[in-house]
Amino acid sequence: MSDPVLLPNSEERRVLLARAAELVEAVFAGQPDWPVVDAGITAESVRERLAHYDFAAPQVGRVVLEDVFGLLRNFGLHVGHPGYYGLFNPTPGFMGVLADLLVAAFNPQLAAWHHNPAAVEIERLLVRYFAQAFGLPPAAYGHFTSGGSEANLSGVSVALARRYPQLASAGLRALERQPVLLASEESHHSLDKIAQQVGLGRDALIRVPVQGLAAGMDPAALDAALARCRRDGLDPFLIVATAGTTNAGVIDPLRAIGERCRQEGLHLHVDAAWGGPLILSDRLRGRLNGIEMADSITFDAHKLLSVPMAAGVFVCADKDWLSAAFDLDPAYVPRSAAAGMDNYRLSAQFSRRFIGLKLFMTLATAGREGMARTIEQQVDMGRRLAVLLEADGWTVVNGDQAALVCFENPDWAGLETEERGRRYLAIAAHVVAGGGSWISVTRTVGRPVLRACVTSYRTREADLDRLVQALREARTHA
Ligand SMILES: *Cc1c(COP(=O)(O)O)cnc(C)c1O
Repeated sequence: MSDPVLLPNSEERRVLLARAAELVEAVFAGQPDWPVVDAGITAESVRERLAHYDFAAPQVGRVVLEDVFGLLRNFGLHVGHPGYYGLFNPTPGFMGVLADLLVAAFNPQLAAWHHNPAAVEIERLLVRYFAQAFGLPPAAYGHFTSGGSEANLSGVSVALARRYPQLASAGLRALERQPVLLASEESHHSLDKIAQQVGLGRDALIRVPVQGLAAGMDPAALDAALARCRRDGLDPFLIVATAGTTNAGVIDPLRAIGERCRQEGLHLHVDAAWGGPLILSDRLRGRLNGIEMADSITFDAHKLLSVPMAAGVFVCADKDWLSAAFDLDPAYVPRSAAAGMDNYRLSAQFSRRFIGLKLFMTLATAGREGMARTIEQQVDMGRRLAVLLEADGWTVVNGDQAALVCFENPDWAGLETEERGRRYLAIAAHVVAGGGSWISVTRTVGRPVLRACVTSYRTREADLDRLVQALREARTHA
């Protein structure tokens, strides 16, 4: 009998796996010397490389493996490069890569506890470990998500279910007043999408001003916004505080916001997609003061915890709120022996990948202290970068944030906003074209700035020097 099409024989599997191991090693060993990205990539060039895949004749596994490696190597941005100062995407830790290989091989289904008690219990352990680290009560529970965006959706869903039990069956039309949620003007854009997705509409997201470039939500402005909502007949049900804005890494005043939420009986969701893992560091944890007042929290393992994408986490203070938002009881799913542990009744997903294993294996091998050191190292490199940039004539505008530096050229302060934005784009493009570093441009509090975030645990002083040098050259060309 011939081998099944999808399963090469044992000898061939070993050959393929050995080669795959070599290729993975080539990524970890070689990536720091590759260009971060080939700035000349075009849609046409990638499509041309893919053109021979018409799937008419089967190809040999070895050939496809080599070809795909070349595609990923030559036609992508290397977020694992120590010179990638990017959009929070980490260099993956090695154990996380192994974890994903195992997950793919076992293909465990985490929808229901009975399909893989080991996997569900590993995720339970992690969720409770982090909930406890954040200072949430013993009843806290949560689930893994595809990322911070989905975790924020869980947060809004739970807050709605808590406040409006009638919503589950009757929908928004059962409500007398328009529910609104409040978040800072620098909060993540996933909230706009979520407001639309849950049927509230984007106008239901009320943006509260921040106190400045280096400070988070203004509590006085929050009070004023709440008062305005009430005056206008709107019904605030949720405040989303951000712990580490995407633009500038700024953490909202969590305690002050938490106190408002307690006084007003509002759900507090903390979007700590970036900043949440600081909780593991004795040195940095204080920046999250007040997060223990949260009713729910988002954090991403695929950012500061350096696990491969995609790995977000949602935790909330009471497991019953998850049931209120997500529970149902379909006929075809057998009951689990461990009552109340079925993920499909506690989250939006049914088929569920074993997202938690890469975090489990990373944390188990690094230990909390090792993980904390890794995070501190990135934060220290961010601090160091800020010092080097200031010494080279740039002005850092976002204060001392965890690993993230927003900066501008003070000589251009008198230029129009649009012109400054154009020049910063030109600078970023020049740096990226050099191949040694990758940075970007953003607007924080309406102001165009250059943005560099230390997202790799491999970034060292020499990498920072290379970036500063590239920026110096780029400035003269802008
Ligand atoms: C990254 C981020 C998100 C979105 O997370 P994804 O994992 O990209 O879906 C949400 N909020 C903040 C503050 C973030 O930094």
